[in-house]
Amino acid sequence: MSTFQAPRGTYDLLPPDSATYLAVREAIAEPLKNSGYGYVETPGFESVELFARGVGESTDIVSKEMYAFETKGGSKLALRPEGTASVLRAALEANLHKQGVLPVKLWYSGSYYRYEKPQKGRYRHFSQVGAEAIGAEDPALDAELIILADQAYRSLGLRQFRILLNSLGDQECRPVYREALQGFLRGLDLDEETRRRIEINPLRVLDDKRSEVQKQLVGAPSLRDYLCEACRAYHDEVRALLTGAGVVFEDDEKLVRGLDYYTRTTFEFVHDGLGSQSAVGGGGRYDGLSEMLGGPALPSVGWALGVDRTVLALRAEGVELEIPASTSVFAVPLGEEARRVLFGVVTRLRKEGVATDFAYGGRGLKGAMKVANRSGARYTIVAGERDLAEGVVQLKDMESGEQNAIPLADVVAEVAARLS
Ligand code: AMP
Repeated sequence: MSTFQAPRGTYDLLPPDSATYLAVREAIAEPLKNSGYGYVETPGFESVELFARGVGESTDIVSKEMYAFETKGGSKLALRPEGTASVLRAALEANLHKQGVLPVKLWYSGSYYRYEKPQKGRYRHFSQVGAEAIGAEDPALDAELIILADQAYRSLGLRQFRILLNSLGDQECRPVYREALQGFLRGLDLDEETRRRIEINPLRVLDDKRSEVQKQLVGAPSLRDYLCEACRAYHDEVRALLTGAGVVFEDDEKLVRGLDYYTRTTFEFVHDGLGSQSAVGGGGRYDGLSEMLGGPALPSVGWALGVDRTVLALRAEGVELEIPASTSVFAVPLGEEARRVLFGVVTRLRKEGVATDFAYGGRGLKGAMKVANRSGARYTIVAGERDLAEGVVQLKDMESGEQNAIPLADVVAEVAARLS
């Protein structure tokens, strides 16, 4: 071990487990790529102001958990705590919304940073795959995103997840509800900080996990009773489209989510095998965010799924992903000349697209065969001086144990043919 360790709240992805993370990212991205979403990549840091405005100053993410710093040049930057604000910033900056038909559909995959109290499923560096559909108000778009996330989880073999769905209303009906809720909350016995929250972001009080708070919330005005006609119709249509697609969901009117920018549809994917950090992904509609960032009105919807927690969910369900061996052929040279010749064979096989590895470091046959075995390769190619003198190599099928001498000149074609 060296003097250094990964920082608190972080961990390294190492083989063989890292292959699962890659497979999860790919499985989440696949339905998006298949549905018109283009890949977007934004910087790992942005101006602090973007998150303060775009995520909300009153949120824990911005007020407590942001890695914010000042550069030598005096810029105030922060490591990104989430993806939506950055993606929308990038789309607006490049005028993507003016270049073609709306919505602009984008997907992303990357690292996010929050200064949280580390525990299982909650890290300071974590990874998300996300999707944003920018510039259209259409219940089919909200439904599409939920269906694609459901499809991604199912394709991974996950079964014990649930979809929680809610509508937060819009700028017309939410303020009326907000006021009614504030009136109710002000009459409760709450601590100083929660009282402050009532004034800044009362909906988030509903999200308070403490039982002494939850007990008092019984009888709180319900957002559902305040939704305006347009929001109600929109939400009913999202629900009908999901049901039509065979996606099972639960109405959860307590679901407000931690970010300020959500309007109308909000949803969360929770997994029952994860204990307290049960949210594996979430998202919603954010019709006002573009204007909050100084852009035009661009009603949008998106989600982010956590890769780390999805991997934990797979473990909790005992799902083993089928990850094909990364190496198909392993070459074992015996002696100097064989090393040169087989290294050439390895290079040619790789050019043919055959995943090939080589016994480096001049090991003996026994040690090299052990490495070959561990690599999961279907075939090994072994050659010593006597083989080369005869112009052949030994091709061994690791599954059947069968071994044949193959002319050196034919081995690349022979292996490629056997593998195809
Ligand atoms: P959020 O933006 O908080 O809704 O996060 C979306 C998803 O990202 C969550 O459902 C988690 O799967 C994941 N996530 C958020 N914060 C963390 C964290 N600190 N550690 C691991 N995963 C996280």
